[in-house]
Amino acid sequence: MRDEEEPLKPESPKRGGGESGWRAKRANMVERLVDEGILSSRSIIEAFLSVPRELFLPAAMRAHAYEDEPLPIGYGQTISAPHMVGIMCEALELQGGQKVLEIGCGSGYHAAITASAVGGGGTVFSVERHNRLARAAAANLAKAGIANVRVVEGDGSCGLAKEAPFDRIYVTCAAPRVPPPLVEQLKPGGILLVPVGNIFCELVRIKKDENGGGCSSERLGGCAFVPLRGKYGF
Ligand code: SAH
Repeated sequence: MRDEEEPLKPESPKRGGGESGWRAKRANMVERLVDEGILSSRSIIEAFLSVPRELFLPAAMRAHAYEDEPLPIGYGQTISAPHMVGIMCEALELQGGQKVLEIGCGSGYHAAITASAVGGGGTVFSVERHNRLARAAAANLAKAGIANVRVVEGDGSCGLAKEAPFDRIYVTCAAPRVPPPLVEQLKPGGILLVPVGNIFCELVRIKKDENGGGCSSERLGGCAFVPLRGKYGF
């Protein structure tokens, strides 16, 4: 099972052409994502400009940090492609001060972008089932200077009841169906994003009514994610 394979080596600080080289590559990537119409909100664009994706990658993948591709991070898992992180951030309508739950911390990169977009007054709780990835993600986030993400080890398919309710919840792996605890743990007026399907899946957005009485659901298009495991996963 690929899940249990050896990790890729952690990133080496020496490669990549220096800080200004990385900054220029990051700015080019953001420009492309804006041109493609994927990024439009000021706070999300600023988040993409400020978070160094190279710090969230293993050494062997670092040179590819600013290609718009998912990349392996060890244990059979992947860091999402920047455009997918952007699509999800925009679809969540992130705002300063929100309390957000991420399921599937992986490298910690998507959590870092979300945390930067909700600002210091907001908090991101990110659940990761793989203990070594959870530890590596916490180290990556510290290296990147992101202080408002709390990485929690466990089965995120059940949400994170002890910190609920959340303004926003999103899942970065494909679920067989929308996990009911995630809907329950959403605040009235909150938004939940879940890729539903088997690897090739559809991004589903659920909005909870302001009075908390019901939900509306819409399909935002096709996507590809590694599978959600656990109680409500595959
Ligand atoms: N957001 C990540 C992408 C992670 S890939 C990033 O930016 O790098 C999906 C992650 O979901 C993997 O790390 C996998 O271990 C994790 N995962 C799968 N099922 C899970 C579950 N039930 N609970 C928590 N994490 C889960």
